[in-house]
Amino acid sequence: MHILLVGAGLSGAVIGRKLAEAGHTCRIIDARDHIGGNCYTERDAESGVMVHVYGPHIFHTDDEEVWRYVNDFTQFMPYQNRVKSTTQGAVYSLPVNLLTINQFFDKTMNPAEAKDFIADQADTSITDPQTFEEQALRFVGRDLYEAFFKGYTEKQWGCSPTELPASILKRLPVRFNYDDNYFFHKFQGMPREGYTPMIEAILDHPNITVELSTLFTPDMAANADHIFWSGALDGYFDYRLGRLGYRTLDFERFTYDGDYQGCAVMNYGDRDVPFTRITEHKHFAPWENHEGSVCYREFSRSAEPEDIPYYPIRLVEEKALLEEYISLAEETPAVTFVGRLGTYRYLDMDVTIREALDTADMFLGTVEQGGMMPAFVKSPR
Ligand SMILES: Cc1cc2nc3c(=O)[nH]c(=O)nc-3n(C[C@H](O)[C@H](O)[C@H](O)COP(=O)(O)OP(=O)(O)OC[C@H]3O[C@@H](n4cnc5c(N)ncnc54)[C@H](O)[C@@H]3O)c2cc1C
Repeated sequence: MHILLVGAGLSGAVIGRKLAEAGHTCRIIDARDHIGGNCYTERDAESGVMVHVYGPHIFHTDDEEVWRYVNDFTQFMPYQNRVKSTTQGAVYSLPVNLLTINQFFDKTMNPAEAKDFIADQADTSITDPQTFEEQALRFVGRDLYEAFFKGYTEKQWGCSPTELPASILKRLPVRFNYDDNYFFHKFQGMPREGYTPMIEAILDHPNITVELSTLFTPDMAANADHIFWSGALDGYFDYRLGRLGYRTLDFERFTYDGDYQGCAVMNYGDRDVPFTRITEHKHFAPWENHEGSVCYREFSRSAEPEDIPYYPIRLVEEKALLEEYISLAEETPAVTFVGRLGTYRYLDMDVTIREALDTADMFLGTVEQGGMMPAFVKSPR
């Protein structure tokens, strides 16, 4: 069959590869002048530093098959994400852990003591938290909430934590030991040469052609037996019902001679610091040596039509509009909406790959049985 895949990010590449291996002809287009979607990395010409162009990407997963999959296409180096936070005039370790708690409250508590202490801080008068703020106050109390969650969340989401649902903070966001590894996952790493060569290798198959700087136009559908769409769900329908809300990021790039901040990611918790974090890219590749440094100051704001959509907002209003687009998509034959934009969800890379593999499997099974491929393999709801 002739398959058109819109988007040469992880979704398009992984689905395309699997279908190509099964003998289908895959045409992958991307509006950008490079492959890799938001995972795209490139070396800074001057310093040689590997830059995560659309923001820092750390690979982490519990999915052994996905871990094997990415390792088949590139070499991964051990890497653990350790984030720091500058807030209220001091630097702390994140996620909030025993070191953070002891430093912040100027104590020397052991885990059990810290647990009791935080339980005392927690606002137990909140029995049924409805908002992010109530949830945080119930979990950690006002002092930690204001230092580590309030300002950061306001900057990240552009609204008060009283307007965000409690579900954003599902678990107690505190560790009662000194573990400052940001992710819990069994497998973590960073591709030695960045993500672009990995995705290049996934796309390297005789049944795959890639066309860059190519925006989808409806006439392309005529030559395709099926379309996998990893662009924006509302974008496929020309935004005819309105736009699904996204946050976008502005990266203020600056260079530095030496080591600017001594770590890869420094969050800024204070509301009066306009950016959310600074990323120093060379620290994502600790096995390399570079004198020069490339850093990104990261600002978050509401996405305008011409901006890159980064984080789906998914509040009440957006969810109502999403339902309408889901209905439209379900009435559209021979198109399957995939990936972070196609299903309007935040997806980590490992989840993106897992869903892409499952989508390709379902397609192959459907073709074999002569059935119909659904609009969504993973529900956007
Ligand atoms: C700031 C940030 C940090 C992240 N950090 C991590 C992390 O640390 N770890 C992790 O696991 N995940 C991380 N992620 C998630 C990761 O970026 C996604 O999992 C991944 O990019 C999803 O791949 P995708 O192919 O679905 O989408 P994308 O990468 O967005 O690819 C979609 C592609 O479709 C193209 N396209 C869209 N519309 C059209 C059109 N009309 N015509 C032609 N082409 C089109 C776009 O140009 C784009 O290249 C992060 C995401 C963000 C936003």
